[in-house]
Amino acid sequence: MELYDVIIIGSGPAGYTAAIYASRGNLKALVLKGTQPGGQLTTTTVIENWPGFENGIDGNELVMQMEKQAKRFGTEMANETVTKVDFSSAPHKVYVGDKEYQGKAVIIASGARSRMTGAEGEDRLFAKGVSTCATCDGFFYKGKDVIVLGGGDTAMEEAHFLTNFCKTVTVVHRRDKFRASKIMADRVLNNEKISVIWDSTVKSFNGKEKLESVTLTNTKTNEDTEVKVDGAFLAIGHIPNTEYLGDAVELDEKKYIVSGEHMQTNVAGVFYAGDVEDQRYRQAVTAASDGCRAGIEVIKYIESLND
Ligand code: NAP
Repeated sequence: MELYDVIIIGSGPAGYTAAIYASRGNLKALVLKGTQPGGQLTTTTVIENWPGFENGIDGNELVMQMEKQAKRFGTEMANETVTKVDFSSAPHKVYVGDKEYQGKAVIIASGARSRMTGAEGEDRLFAKGVSTCATCDGFFYKGKDVIVLGGGDTAMEEAHFLTNFCKTVTVVHRRDKFRASKIMADRVLNNEKISVIWDSTVKSFNGKEKLESVTLTNTKTNEDTEVKVDGAFLAIGHIPNTEYLGDAVELDEKKYIVSGEHMQTNVAGVFYAGDVEDQRYRQAVTAASDGCRAGIEVIKYIESLND
């Protein structure tokens, strides 16, 4: 069986940057791309805050370029999704079903996904009015009425951002108090363009071809109300893609990787990069920065094995 110096799990900016550094550092590297090759950037349109592109760059184009760049330095790629790992002995083992891959080191860069409500109509109307990214889709709701679901910093940020385009922005939160930091919450509460519906969750997303309304349930009275909207932005948190790790590395209570020094997990030779650990910044550029660090640390680690 072929032994890789490093197996990189995930193909977003974290995984590809790690691959570029590792391969350019002469390591034999393999990227297992996962269910969504290219990661979350492929679900967005223009990325305007990736430095170096005055007018922004298409998210798909950006990750495609990263992939080509990693390939140029010799990174191998496989369109496979990891189902299980075994880090209990060297070399580390990574499984795709019954297929086994072996690596002296592993970089976990499998990212995170948006939490969904699970309410009726959500899947059917996804990208037809239901969105998980105001930054990506807000522009399409010029002059329209939208809701933002959630009470954390992301919901506050997205609601504020949407006032740049939308006729009305309504934040819907399941409790009577925001979880968001005071400064972000105050910004929303003091913004005349934003109203808040407290103590409410979405029971269903309604509409034939596209979203036309949401049915809200009051969590205190159990009463349902239908509200006409053109867009519903979900900002109810993220879920790290770590299920396949089982208890092979230490995870926190939300199942994010617990960060050690220098991009290491609690297992020797197993490193992390990007949103799979980062609950705060979640930016393409910070994920890439993590990938760079993890790539450099893997090079040092492999050198230390050869000493
Ligand atoms: P979050 O802080 O976990 O907030 C998620 C919100 O969604 C909470 O208000 C939660 O309600 C609600 N929620 C969760 N599940 C729900 C469900 N099934 N139905 C309805 N509502 C649900 O997530 P986040 O806002 O994405 O923030 C994540 C981290 O990033 C935080 O540490 C945050 O401070 C940070 N962040 C910082 C900035 C900034 O500083 N500029 C911007 C964005 C994010 P409850 O409150 O009732 O639990």
